Amino acid sequence: MATPKKNKLEPAEIARETIKRMALQRIAPTPDNYRRIYNEVAELPTLEPLEDALNRALKELPRETAESSKWIGAWEKLLASRNWKALPAMLGAEMQDKVAQARQWPDAIRDLLRAWDAKQTSLTPQRKKETLERVLINFGSDPQLPEKLQAMTKSWSGYAGNSSELIDVGGVAENKAEIMESSELNKPPLPLSPRLAALQENINTLQGMLRQSLRNGLIPRLEGYPELQQEAGEIFALSDKAVKNEDWQLLARQLKTLIGRVELIGIEEQEIKHDLLALLKLLVDNIGELVSDDQWLRGQIAVVQTIISSPLEKALIKDAEKSLKEVIFKQGVLKHSLTEAKNNFKQMVATFIERLGTISDSTGSYHSKVEAYNQKLSSTDDIIQIGALVENLMQDTHEMQTNLLRSQEVLIEQRNKVEATEERIRRLELELTELSEKIRIDQLTGTLNRRGLEEAFTQEIARAQRGETDLSVVLLDIDNFKRLNDTYGHEAGDSALQYLANTVKEAVRPIDVVARFGGEEFVILLPNTKVKEAVGLVTRLQRELTKKIFLHNNERLLITFSAGISLFRMNEEQEVVLHRADQAMYLAKSTGKNRVLTEDDLMRARKNLQSSI
Ligand code: GH3
Ligand code: MG
Ligand code: MG
Repeated sequence: MATPKKNKLEPAEIARETIKRMALQRIAPTPDNYRRIYNEVAELPTLEPLEDALNRALKELPRETAESSKWIGAWEKLLASRNWKALPAMLGAEMQDKVAQARQWPDAIRDLLRAWDAKQTSLTPQRKKETLERVLINFGSDPQLPEKLQAMTKSWSGYAGNSSELIDVGGVAENKAEIMESSELNKPPLPLSPRLAALQENINTLQGMLRQSLRNGLIPRLEGYPELQQEAGEIFALSDKAVKNEDWQLLARQLKTLIGRVELIGIEEQEIKHDLLALLKLLVDNIGELVSDDQWLRGQIAVVQTIISSPLEKALIKDAEKSLKEVIFKQGVLKHSLTEAKNNFKQMVATFIERLGTISDSTGSYHSKVEAYNQKLSSTDDIIQIGALVENLMQDTHEMQTNLLRSQEVLIEQRNKVEATEERIRRLELELTELSEKIRIDQLTGTLNRRGLEEAFTQEIARAQRGETDLSVVLLDIDNFKRLNDTYGHEAGDSALQYLANTVKEAVRPIDVVARFGGEEFVILLPNTKVKEAVGLVTRLQRELTKKIFLHNNERLLITFSAGISLFRMNEEQEVVLHRADQAMYLAKSTGKNRVLTEDDLMRARKNLQSSI
């Protein structure tokens, strides 16, 4: 008997069989698993669930434009929320869009043909072609293309006569002046409408701002990157000449590329800064460990530690640099003085031992002489001989006593010297501690030190504010001081500082404040003094220095300085007015040294520099 042909199973049987298999194979009873086993039993092809297929398809779609991203996003949202109720509305809207677009196309093409053939006095076919190309570039893959084309043709019709409407093609505004310029018809330019004139003015302002940002911002920022700086310079030149749309587009492209590269540099510099700071921190922490006994040095290290632990500030860093320079210099001085003191001490101990040797020598020979006299004494009874012996003995005793006395004097003298040296070492150390504590007077020059200046400055500012009087601030820095130190030694440098300080003190009035600002820099506060008068005073000081020449080992050395002067402005901080004086001083340095410049000179120099670029 032939086996009966396997009949197709009824749906109910398939369902029953599916449940049986799931139970036997211990498959989790989920809708997906049920669907899969059901298809197996019914011998249907295993289909991917619709949702999965849709999601996968959406993922593969390109998201090139904002429009397409938005569209994909809406579908993904719908699938994720399974809000199928929203589906008809979505499909309906899409269909309407498509229909509307399809309807717009014939109109757009018709308008375009009509406008193409129409005669517009100031619009050449070449110009029309360019505009059309621009719209196609900007909106070629945009559903709004027919709309944009219609806007374009509409704007062309505005050129029929004297109308000077603005054409907005693809977001790029162009004006009539430009079209006139490229027109083959060499007609005189038409007067601009108020709206167009305002727009032209805005463009001019923007162009000016762009040029200013390039000249004062980007180009100086690229110091150290000659290639990029040159590129920025080229863009700057281009920005001056840009008239046509093409010029601006080229400019925008170049600027965008450059800014991208500048951003990269910025990131790189940030990283370098970060690494350098970490390195500096490590170094400073280590030094801090090493010098834990040196109070004065530890104080300066702590300053640096504080500075690098908070956001960097230029003024603070400059202060730290000065502070460190001072530490290095003072450390050198201390080392020198301590070596000298140590050598002195060694010398003294050597003399001491030598003297001790002499004492024992002289007492030793005295003893042997006394011994010899003793023997002679016991072997003779001759009174004359005895008399001579006693006389000799007396003389020897006297000699020994004198020797002893002299040795004692030398010893006392040596002990005093030791004490004096000890005292000197102690004083030196104390001096350094005081320096670290920033006492008010500068030990070397007798002028105020920084701390002292700060206090005096506060008082003078209060006085100037109260009485509304002028307060001039002078910052002076000796020229080529390092060279003087290197050539003639630090002692010569120190004497030069004292000489300058004394000359300044003699030149100013009793109410003026003189302070050593650190190293070879001095600050003079001149209450009730206008900048012009301050210039007079400092110039006089310069003359004094050339008259009363500084002598070192009978050698005549000319000491010059560069100075900057600023005027205190109501309610400003000390640092701010000092900073302006510092900048003016810096300008004096960079323009030849041995000069006195004011903050006004500085402003003028900056303006000249700007207009020369
Ligand atoms: P410029 O003309 O540009 O001001 O150059 P400069 O050499 O004067 O300035 P720089 O800042 O390069 O060098 C200042 C030197 O002053 C470095 C340091 O050795 C020295 N110095 C700082 N304090 C003292 C001090 O108390 N005594 C002596 N003798 N030298 C000091
Ligand atoms: Mg200096
Ligand atoms: Mg100097």
